[in-house]
Amino acid sequence: MLNIRCPYCEEDRPEIEFRNAGEAHIARPDEPDRVDDRQWADFLYTRDNPKGWHAERWRHVHGCGRFFNAVRHSVDDRILLTYKAGEPKPDIERMLREREA
Ligand SMILES: [Zn+2]
Repeated sequence: MLNIRCPYCEEDRPEIEFRNAGEAHIARPDEPDRVDDRQWADFLYTRDNPKGWHAERWRHVHGCGRFFNAVRHSVDDRILLTYKAGEPKPDIERMLREREA
């Protein structure tokens, strides 16, 4: 079973307490009235689908209920780290290099 660390509860909890909420760091356009239909559609629907490490949103639905972000490997579900919503996207490549050193 996959265990996920909620950065708010500061506990490792079983994955059944969480819900994936898609790619992280998708910013709503500052002025939605000024974007064209293609830009708006990209905001709503276009997401990366990498094979490997990527940042995604999760929600601790059966815990504190809060959204947070996680860097997860899409092939084997390993989680590199979790961090609170609003914190900057980590430099994943640098973190991986530092782990190997
Ligand atoms: Zn929590």
